Amino acid sequence: MARYTASVCRICRRENLKMYLKGDRCYTDKCAIERRPYPPGQHGQGRVKFSGYGVQLREKQKVKRMYGLLERQFRGYFHRAASAKGKTGETLLQQLELRLDNVVFRMGFADTRAEARQLVRHGHFTVNGKRVNIPSFSVKPGTGIEVHDKSKKVLRIQEAIETVDRRGVPQWIEIDKKALKGTVKSAPNREDLTMPIQEQLIVELYSK
Ligand code: SF4
Repeated sequence: MARYTASVCRICRRENLKMYLKGDRCYTDKCAIERRPYPPGQHGQGRVKFSGYGVQLREKQKVKRMYGLLERQFRGYFHRAASAKGKTGETLLQQLELRLDNVVFRMGFADTRAEARQLVRHGHFTVNGKRVNIPSFSVKPGTGIEVHDKSKKVLRIQEAIETVDRRGVPQWIEIDKKALKGTVKSAPNREDLTMPIQEQLIVELYSK
C-alpha cells in the first residue's frame, strides 16, 4: 500500500501547526516547527497568499495527514459522513476519531497515530476480548480495548503509557493504566476535539 515516507515534520511546517506526529520529539526544543516556523522548500519563507480553494485544500490536507490517511480513504470517510444523519463535518471528524488506531493512540498505548497503526497491525490489541488487527476498525461507544496478554510487556506500549498524562486522555475515553485497558464511553462531541480544525472548509471543498 502506498504510504507517506518523507519527513513528517514537513507536514507540520506545511500546515503551520504542531500536529504531534513524532512522539517525544514534539515536546522538546528539537521540534522542527519551533526552529523553522515556515513552510518547507525553497520558497517557504516567501509570502504565500491562498485562494479560497487553496484554503479549503490546505484544511483537508491537514486533517487527512493528521490521521495518516491517503486521499481515497479520506474521501471514503467524507462520503460516508455525507450520507449519514447530522452535520457532515462533525460526523467526518467523529468517524476519524473512532478508528481503532486513533482510539489506541488516544488511550495512550502509542506515542503517535502512526505507531498505533503499526501496533494494531501487529495484533497487540483486543476489542471486546477479540484480537483485531485492522487500524480502520470502527470502534463503537461502550467498547473495551485492551493490550493483548502476550503484548503487555512490549516496551513501546509501556513507554507510551508512562507519558500518557503529557498527551492527555479525552473525556470520552476511560483508561486503566495498570491493566493496560480502556473503554470508549461515548462517541466524541465536536467540543472534545481540541485541534484547530475548520471542518466546514473540507465539506465545501468536496461539495464542489
Ligand atoms: Fe510536528 Fe514538531 Fe512533532 Fe515534528 S517534532 S512532528 S514539527 S510537532
